[in-house]
Formats: sequence, C-alpha cells, structure tokens
Amino acid sequence: IAFNSARFLTSAAHLDQCPEDEGCEVAFAGRSNSGKSSALNAITRNSKLARTSKTPGRTRLINFFTLSRPGARLVDLPGYGYARVSREMQQDWEKHLGAYLEHRQSLRGMTLIMDIRHPLSEFDEMLIEWCQHHDLPMLLLLTKADKLKKNPARQQVRDVQNALRDVPCVTRVQPFSALKGDGIDEARAHLSQWLDG
Ligand code: GDP
Repeated sequence: IAFNSARFLTSAAHLDQCPEDEGCEVAFAGRSNSGKSSALNAITRNSKLARTSKTPGRTRLINFFTLSRPGARLVDLPGYGYARVSREMQQDWEKHLGAYLEHRQSLRGMTLIMDIRHPLSEFDEMLIEWCQHHDLPMLLLLTKADKLKKNPARQQVRDVQNALRDVPCVTRVQPFSALKGDGIDEARAHLSQWLDG
C-alpha cells in the first residue's frame, strides 16, 4: 500500500453520510492534541493531509481519505476533547462513534493515538473496551516519544503493555514520533496488514 498517495475523499457527520461500506478501511482515534494529525501526516508523508480534518466545521466529522489501491481508506475520527467538554458533546460523540464502530463492515482496525507522557485516559480506555467488544484489532501509537529519554519511553511502553495484557485486541504498542520519524515504518507495516487482509 502506498500511503503517500492518500487523498481527501469526503466528510461525514453521520453513519449514513459515510462512503459506501465496501473495501477496507483503518480508523485513527485519539484525544485532541494527542498528535493524531501529525501522525496521519507522517504516515502518509503529506504535511497537509490532516489539516483538512482540522478546518472549521470539519473537526467534529469523520473524514475519509482514499489510498492508491481502490477500496482502501484511512479514516480520521473526530478528536475527543479533554474532560472539560460538555457532557452533551461527549454523548453526541459517543453516539456517532458507537454507530460507526458497531455497523461499519469495512473497518479492519483501529489506530489509537496517545501522548506517550500521559496515555490511557478514561476515553482511551472506553475505546479499547469497545474495540475488544467488537473484536477489532488495535494499534496503539505512543506519540511524541521524542519528548522522553530512551529509558523512560521504554518504561511507558511496558507500562501500557502491562495494563493491557488481558486485552488481546491490542496487537501492538508502538512508540512513535512524527518529529523524529520513529515508528512510522512499523505503523505502516501494521496498517498494511489490515488493509491487505
Ligand atoms: P491532534 O489535535 O491530535 O491532531 O494533534 P496535532 O497533530 O495537531 O499535535 C498537537 C501538538 O503536538 C502540536 O503542537 C504538534 O506540533 C505536537 N506534536 C505532534 N506530534 C509530535 C511529536 O511526535 N513530537 C513532538 N515533539 N511534538 C508533536
């Protein structure tokens, strides 16, 4: 799969606005500011790609990107806010994401983006539970790995692996740095497996 061929396809506010549910796609989720856009840009080697998802009016939408292979897509899910977002907004988000996870046949895997310095927020854990419940494999990217020295970064990876050792849907915990390029090849290899399978 040539990830650098990614192109914006469409945005959807609801499940029924999503592109035809055929082929295969992998989704990206994470709280706001976790580094999700930077990770998407790094993986697709397109510094402007995820900017599309950040333009006003699009931040709350599901954004779809096509890849060179017909029927293969990357999906940027809306970033979830800090604890401070209103209960109403959070419920709205959960409803749409829940519907997407529940019904999307072409969804092959979930990439969860977490800041390596503070992974596993309450919402991250909820998403992991959902994926476990739906048997959806997960790649965890611990981003901004360049912000920690080597040993503390390794320790963080181990801590997350330990916390999730009874959660088999998590197939890999990968340190990642959009800034330094760490973990990009591994992330691509993992995503390719899902999109090829
Ligand atoms: P998003 O809200 O999850 O899409 O997060 P962004 O990709 O916009 O990143 C949020 C902030 O973190 C920005 O200031 C980025 O420059 C910074 N950031 C993202 N990835 C990295 C990284 O790998 N290393 C460092 N040092 N900063 C990063």
